[in-house]
Amino acid sequence: LLERLAALESKHWHAEPTFRSDAEGETAPITQPQDLSAEVGTRRDCTPEEVEAAIGQALLIQPGWNRLGGEKRALLLEAAADLFEEHTDEFLSLCRREAGKTLLDAVLELREAVDFLRYYAAEARRLFSAPLMLPGPTGEENRLSLAGRGVFATISPWNFPLAIFIGPAAAALAAGNTVVAKPAEQTPLIAALAVKLCHEAGIPEAVFQLLPGAGDVGQMITSDPRIAGVAFTGSTETAQAINRSLASREGPIATFIAETGGQNAMIVDSSALPEQVTRDVVSSAFQSAGQRCSALRMLYLQDDVADEMLAMIRGAFEVLEIGDPAELTTDVGPVIDPDAKAALDRHVARRKKNGRTVWQRKLPKGTGAGCFVAPTIIELDSILDLKRENFGPVLHVARFKADQLERVVDDINATGYGLTLGLHSRIDAVRELVEAKARVGNFYVNRNQIGAVVESQPFGGDGLSGTGPKAGGPHYVARFASERVVS
Ligand code: ADP
Repeated sequence: LLERLAALESKHWHAEPTFRSDAEGETAPITQPQDLSAEVGTRRDCTPEEVEAAIGQALLIQPGWNRLGGEKRALLLEAAADLFEEHTDEFLSLCRREAGKTLLDAVLELREAVDFLRYYAAEARRLFSAPLMLPGPTGEENRLSLAGRGVFATISPWNFPLAIFIGPAAAALAAGNTVVAKPAEQTPLIAALAVKLCHEAGIPEAVFQLLPGAGDVGQMITSDPRIAGVAFTGSTETAQAINRSLASREGPIATFIAETGGQNAMIVDSSALPEQVTRDVVSSAFQSAGQRCSALRMLYLQDDVADEMLAMIRGAFEVLEIGDPAELTTDVGPVIDPDAKAALDRHVARRKKNGRTVWQRKLPKGTGAGCFVAPTIIELDSILDLKRENFGPVLHVARFKADQLERVVDDINATGYGLTLGLHSRIDAVRELVEAKARVGNFYVNRNQIGAVVESQPFGGDGLSGTGPKAGGPHYVARFASERVVS
């Protein structure tokens, strides 16, 4: 595999709108997060005219795509999943070179993307093949059927440039919508390969279109009155901006599905198993360089075991391998770009200046050309000391006394986010209390808090963390559809 990936290292990739006009668009280079001097490919952004035309085409073809029915749409999505698997090497190579992912993360991401395609295909069959017969009040026929809403826009982030790009798009397609998909400006190349393979699988080009670009292109798409809905994953601030844009445009009331950030905590009491805690804390905080929506940001340790636990966690933290994701032994690769690095470095510097206890790894030699952030642990008093999401390999730790457990959960709730919460405890009453009180979408007990699993552990949050329904869950695809009752 490594030899095959090495052979793809020099391949130059390009992303551009599915339907090109003659308009002059700007071409921007895409470089590797681990080496900003190494170009992976180029991106040509959509012009306003191309956005306009793309939505027009998607609108025209949508009724036909909807009429095709659940079974045929499922077959096309499954054919795309097969092609994704056949192109494993290219996807893994792009995950590493464009997004700076370790090989382990790249493999997991491709697996998740394929799982999304197959699961939403199965959902297309389940929900769209036959109407649901409802009991008629006086015995007459009474049925509920689902159909696509129209043109859906999907706007996706760079941290899962393949899985979160294809997941919402596949769900929207499964439901009979056509899709205009805007990948993150940092990672359009892997998205372009995904869209190309969907077309090769038989999904018509007008049905699923790539619209590369930055936030301005996203803004053009979401302010268009012809869009029936938006499925967005990214920051809370951008979700709020899109919500405002959808609210202020003319036209039908849009469906908005948002999956945003978190201020994720883990609570560890004195009954927890230290080895298990150590393993789960380190993977939850530092795998994927902390660039997961679900990643652990704030660890609460019960005071009577805090020193022992922290010593063990620091022991594991000190031996994390930092560096080039091309190396199989690497645990922590780069963050996505210079802006992300600068924000994280500023956060750590501010805490040091404020006199907080900070443990920070030294970056190894040879990382200077990339966007590496030294893994860091910072002691704080409370999660409420964190004002924003720190999307990288930075873990915060606070201590609590046994009688403060409820207050800790109150503070976690008071952040307004509600994505993931971890708990390590072997006391049933503690688990029941935290489970009843915490407002989070995914509650993880005695395990790590990363790694959503399509179908068995669907993922998503509430409050500032998103609208739901959960991605990869049984209510997701139906949210993309309109319902009709005939009685
Ligand atoms: P992140 O912190 O993950 O970069 P963003 O919310 O900035 O999160 O970006 C997520 C996606 O939203 C990207 O595809 C980005 O281009 C897009 N985006 C950014 N601003 C806007 C906007 N105002 N309207 C629509 N999409 C936007």
